Amino acid sequence: MSRLSNKTIVLTGAGSGIGRGMAEGFIREGAKVLGVDLSEAGLAETAAGVVGSGQFEVLVGDVTEPKLPDAIQSRLSDLDWNWNVLCNNAGIGGGGMAGDCDDATLNRYLDVNVTALFRLSRAAVNAWKGKGGGVILNTASIYSFIGATGSAAYSTTKAAVAGLTRQMATDYGVEGIRVVALAPGLIETPLTAARIRSEPWRRQIFIDQSPLRRVGTPADIANGAIFLVSDEASFITGETLRIDGGWSLGRYPRPDEA
Ligand code: NAD
Repeated sequence: MSRLSNKTIVLTGAGSGIGRGMAEGFIREGAKVLGVDLSEAGLAETAAGVVGSGQFEVLVGDVTEPKLPDAIQSRLSDLDWNWNVLCNNAGIGGGGMAGDCDDATLNRYLDVNVTALFRLSRAAVNAWKGKGGGVILNTASIYSFIGATGSAAYSTTKAAVAGLTRQMATDYGVEGIRVVALAPGLIETPLTAARIRSEPWRRQIFIDQSPLRRVGTPADIANGAIFLVSDEASFITGETLRIDGGWSLGRYPRPDEA
């Protein structure tokens, strides 16, 4: 039996990178997925690539739009789908050091990466009240835990995502709602491609410093996502799972490599 055949998933940021990898994995495992993204073309490309026993529908929308939760609910009603998983994956990355980050930039990061995720999570727990529970999976980052370089606003938002994950897990476990997160390391996607191209040393440093000596792929993150939203993870909540090839563990080479 497919691992997610009992899951109906709302997935934001489904039009690219990690979200596309998640959509592919979820559909392969038999889930119904409503992919939400700003990019209609990106969603169409994702739809063209999904293969499996699941079903993929799309909704073009901006996660920062306060009415988006209503639009999602109304689309789900039209489809006659009862959702039981929310994957808050849409996000923006990059930025600079705190001293160079103005209020407008900071607020943009907070709007997309925190406020939108909070608002959709609120809609989910309220929609699921008395319906037997559900799962919220947030895409955090390794920057939720460690500093790397020049990403002050981004790190602020991703630490908030890990904090909200713990807090909502604490508050809603009693209703059968699990709240978990993923913390990807460097994953090659359109989000990171430009930076990797302009600063190739970043990729190499990541490889040199990772115990597993490689950068990640969207499929690496999707595999973690499939597990965390599935019933196999039914005793896991509040956790932000690092999927980073061990990069955040340490920085030293083995003695025989030094
Ligand atoms: P990506 O840029 O390839 O994809 C992000 C998707 O989100 C795009 O399709 C984009 O259109 C959509 N999106 C952005 N803003 C939106 C909005 N306001 N409303 C609706 N959709 C919106 O990026 P990715 O690398 O796949 O990143 C996905 C998530 O993973 C993000 O939350 C990011 O912070 C996180 N992450 C990525 C990495 C990495 O190395 N790529 C590492 C850690 C965490």
